Amino acid sequence: MKKFVKVTALLMALCMVLALGACAGKKTEEPAEKKTLTMATNAEFKPFEYLEGEEIVGADIDMAKAIAEKLGCELEITNIDFDAALTGASTGKYDMAVAGITANDERRLSMGFSEDYYTASQAIIVVKDSEIQGKDGLEGKTIACQEGTTGEQFLIDGNYKTQSFKTAPEAVSALTTGKVDAVVVDDAVARALSKEQEGATVVLDEPLTQEAYAIATKLGNDEFLTKINDALKALKADGTLKKIFEKYELPFDAE
Ligand code: GLN
Repeated sequence: MKKFVKVTALLMALCMVLALGACAGKKTEEPAEKKTLTMATNAEFKPFEYLEGEEIVGADIDMAKAIAEKLGCELEITNIDFDAALTGASTGKYDMAVAGITANDERRLSMGFSEDYYTASQAIIVVKDSEIQGKDGLEGKTIACQEGTTGEQFLIDGNYKTQSFKTAPEAVSALTTGKVDAVVVDDAVARALSKEQEGATVVLDEPLTQEAYAIATKLGNDEFLTKINDALKALKADGTLKKIFEKYELPFDAE
């Protein structure tokens, strides 16, 4: 009898684990109801995530929606500061953070990452006719960047005079108002932000780093990551990801 109780308890526990599935966010009473996949982002990073009126749009958002659909989950997006999105994913407050996040060794110590989905680099934005023409020109100048990013890390590591802002658009405003001499930010975002300045700024053609974006989650969340990776693989294979990147005029280089 005792044994029977044990086996039943084990089976029940197993069923609960299976029912929870990939959408670790919230359990619902109704098994038929869709579970929620919670995601943090920072919608100040055009064309990956940005606001169109009240709505958060962008390549990362479309990708996250496609992943949620594959997993049969409702996607719940929270728009917060970039460093808060990273912390939120690493502590498990959110199932994942999708925010053009570079997967690097330092971050891998405190969070888990999916497979890469985009190749990026840091790029320099300057005003038109600036004397800064490349990396060498940054010496002794004041360079703006976004707080908590790999761009900021690049500048700190290189001992550049650095001014960090909460968002990339704020860093660009500091450039166009003459408060700083250049901005270092991810290349596709640099192009998108510079385009908005209608010729007043240019992006220099010198990649400063080599980076890859991935989806971040809590360390050791391997079961979840496997599901995310399977979904990503399927979206790469069936051309969905390519279509999403093309929509936002982003190069697609994932197999
Ligand atoms: N790719 C950069 C990083 O991960 C910037 C990301 C961002 O600002 N959203 O630090």
